[in-house]
Amino acid sequence: MAVPFRKTSKRRKRLRRTHYKLQVPGLIACPHCGEMKLSHRICPNCGHYRGRQVVQGE
Ligand SMILES: [Zn+2]
Repeated sequence: MAVPFRKTSKRRKRLRRTHYKLQVPGLIACPHCGEMKLSHRICPNCGHYRGRQVVQGE
């Protein structure tokens, strides 16, 4: 098994982790009410999907 020749320095480790970031998958603004919602899902705020109301809102 290959073993790293050198210990990864704090700098190296931190530099590598600068590429890590939080990802919010497929979050878009609802075209009907402007609320943030997951794409390809019915809007939880107004119940609209693809330009028409699918679920009755409150
Ligand atoms: Zn909406």
